[in-house]
Order: sequence, then structure tokens, then C-alpha cells
Amino acid sequence: MKRSYLLLTPLLFLACSTTKPVEQSHPTLQATLWVQNAVEYDALTRMAYQTAATHLNEALEEKTWTASVEQKGQKVESLPPAIILDIDETVLDNSPFQSRMIALNSSYDPVAWEEWVLEGNADAVPGAVELTQAANDLGITVFYLSNREATTEEATRANLKELGFPVSEDTDVVLLKNEQPNWTSSKIERRKVIASKYRILMLFGDDFNDFLPAKGMTKAERDELLVQYKSNFGLKWFVLPNPVYGSWTGTNDKPILNPKNK
Ligand SMILES: [Mg+2]
Repeated sequence: MKRSYLLLTPLLFLACSTTKPVEQSHPTLQATLWVQNAVEYDALTRMAYQTAATHLNEALEEKTWTASVEQKGQKVESLPPAIILDIDETVLDNSPFQSRMIALNSSYDPVAWEEWVLEGNADAVPGAVELTQAANDLGITVFYLSNREATTEEATRANLKELGFPVSEDTDVVLLKNEQPNWTSSKIERRKVIASKYRILMLFGDDFNDFLPAKGMTKAERDELLVQYKSNFGLKWFVLPNPVYGSWTGTNDKPILNPKNK
């Protein structure tokens, strides 16, 4: 992971003495600095992937084990095993793209995002390569389910392969948005396609929608679902930290600060 903090700090001080620095006023500065510099970020991602690795054999042996709500009530015993991982901020770290946006004092720009994706230059999220390789070695098919556009599939595959992620050549394991007419940003249809052919052992993501259809829900509704499925976390569902963006910022009720005043 690239470390830019030492370079950025003098810039911030320099800018403080004159006008308000661009970087300091950007809403994602602190979060991006944390991802790129805090050893705690790496520790959390490794904790998620290392914990998952300790449950792989158990998940394989227990033939009714499934991580997918789409497989509830479905006979899964005879299906071959698979795991599903989101891509962005789950297996690929796009914080350099965010750093570029901060340097330009820009908010999310879809054109710049596509350029970054086509560069195929993202680093791996710590621990992700090891877990996917371990799963692959056990005969588990590794699927990548992402809302990157289908037009970026070749660059995305190349980026994943170069980093050492297993990417099957026999089966399409990289399922992107708009690859099929009904493959919208909701991941339900794509999870259903995998669920019809594989027993889904584990799900990995940085967003609640990587686990459940939770689009458009209020925080209260999400909180309720979280409690309902709490036993899945750390066993079948693994959440990667992403303080920069996510559906938590765009639910029906906007996020609020809670000072807990009386
Ligand atoms: Mg993601």
C-alpha cells in the first residue's frame, strides 16, 4: 500500500499559513488518509480474511451451510462450493483514485473513475489474495460480483490476475453491472444466478448490499436486518472497512451526528 502521509503533511502545513488548503477541506480527506496510512486498516482487513480462512473447511464439510439469503430453503447439498466477493474496497483498494479526487478538490467523477479502472493499477486489499488462493486450492470457485461497468471487465480481470487473485478461465467468475439486461446495481439477480448452480459458502463486501438487498432502506431498517443476521458476521459474512463511501451515506435518512445531548 502506498504511503503518502509524509508527503501530504508538509503540504497541509504550508497551505495552512496562506489560504485554506484544498486537501483539508475535502470531505473524504481524513478517511482516505486512514485507509492509506493506518496500520489499523490493514489489521482489520487481515482480520476479516484470516477469520474467514479458519472457517473454510467447516463450511465445506457442513453440506447444508450457505451464506446466501437467496438460498434459504433451497437444497444445496449436491451443489459445488463457491464464495462471492465484491471487488471495490473489498479485494481492490481504490484509495489512490480517491487521493486524486482530493488533490483536484473534486467529488466522485464517473469519467475519472472509469479511467482509473481501465488503468488496472489498483493494489490488493491486505489479506484478500491469500484467502481467495486458499479457497481456490480447496476447490472452491471464487466469484467477483461488482458494480463496475461490464465495459471494464477486461481491465478488471487483468488487474485481479496480476495481483495473484484466482480468476477462472472456464467459468465467468467476474459478474459486472449491465453484463446482462437485468444485472442492475442491485446484486440480487447475480447472486441468484450463482445460487442456482453453487452452494455459496461465504460473502465478502464493504457495503451492506453485498450481503442483503438493502437498497433504499432507512437506517432503522438496516439496523433491524443487522440484528436479524448478526450471527452471520465473522462466520459466513465478512465486512471490509470503507470509511470513504458507501450506501450508508445515501439511505433514505441522511447520516447525522449524534452528540447525545440531554
Ligand atoms: Mg465495494
